[in-house]
Amino acid sequence: MNVLSLIIEQIARFRQYFDWISILDILLVATIIYFLLSLLRSTQAINVLRGVALVIMLTFALSGVLQLRAISWLLNKISPALLFTIPVIFSQEIRRVLDQLGRATWFSPALPTPTQEYTKLADALVSASTRCSEKGYGALIVVERQNDLSDFIGTGVQMDCLVTPEVLVQIFFKDTPLHDGAVIIRGERIAAAACVLPLSTDEGITDRQLGLRHRASLGLSENSDAVVVVVSEETSAISVVHHGRMIRHLDEIRLRNILLAFFQTRAARTRQPSLLNFFQKPDSRTKIKSFNLSDDE
Ligand code: ATP
Ligand code: MG
Repeated sequence: MNVLSLIIEQIARFRQYFDWISILDILLVATIIYFLLSLLRSTQAINVLRGVALVIMLTFALSGVLQLRAISWLLNKISPALLFTIPVIFSQEIRRVLDQLGRATWFSPALPTPTQEYTKLADALVSASTRCSEKGYGALIVVERQNDLSDFIGTGVQMDCLVTPEVLVQIFFKDTPLHDGAVIIRGERIAAAACVLPLSTDEGITDRQLGLRHRASLGLSENSDAVVVVVSEETSAISVVHHGRMIRHLDEIRLRNILLAFFQTRAARTRQPSLLNFFQKPDSRTKIKSFNLSDDE
């Protein structure tokens, strides 16, 4: 009976502080956090943020449960400072997020599915990669999709020119200054060339033919939804890489079909952001498995 009256008393006290305005307030804060996380999720910052959030949550939980006064004092003192340091650390990402917010589709009418553009892009990629393969050039071409690749575009030479097979072949011609590194395509345009991509750390890659170029394609695709086309300088083999999965030794027809399939399922494959998958790390074992599977294809 005592417990029941205690609960009722607690609920009554709780209701004193909790009205409709508070609910609206909480919902607004939750919405802002949700949108910030969903915009940041495709950037490098999300990994740092995930780490910081976990450390803070664990420390708060520990100091609360074990009544660690010194830690609680320290956390209370540094929490306001974090409010100022986080915007400084993530200044680049915050600028990009605000830029994306301005260009977001909820402010502009939805565009029709640009099937024609996808076909044109796929044709240009097929033509460029087969020509590179015939000439013995190595090539690494990334097509940006939903995940923002600005960080990687920033590592290369900015270009902003239309995608044509001629330009792509010219870029990967061995004696040009731009041939080293990756070309990144954003929309219908080549955003940059000579870009540096992150290398895959997958220990399941044992094939000696998969050197740095192929590892870079896998590395980028493990952390984004980009579609990557790789032409091997050593073997002239053409591969497509997506979500840490490589499909090798493609001829023109298969390459075109695969590219079109990837481009056209853009919307269907988009992962919805959630607070849950913010804290989930991709399972590296799945990636190794899918890599081996596609290797046999
Ligand atoms: P290939 O079959 O063409 O020889 P590979 O997978 O064996 O390719 P390497 O021979 O090591 O790879 O290719 C080296 C080239 O890969 C470099 O000259 C450079 O153009 C490109 N490359 C290496 N590392 C990166 C990276 N991190 N990001 C982008 N491109 C890279
Ligand atoms: Mg090599």
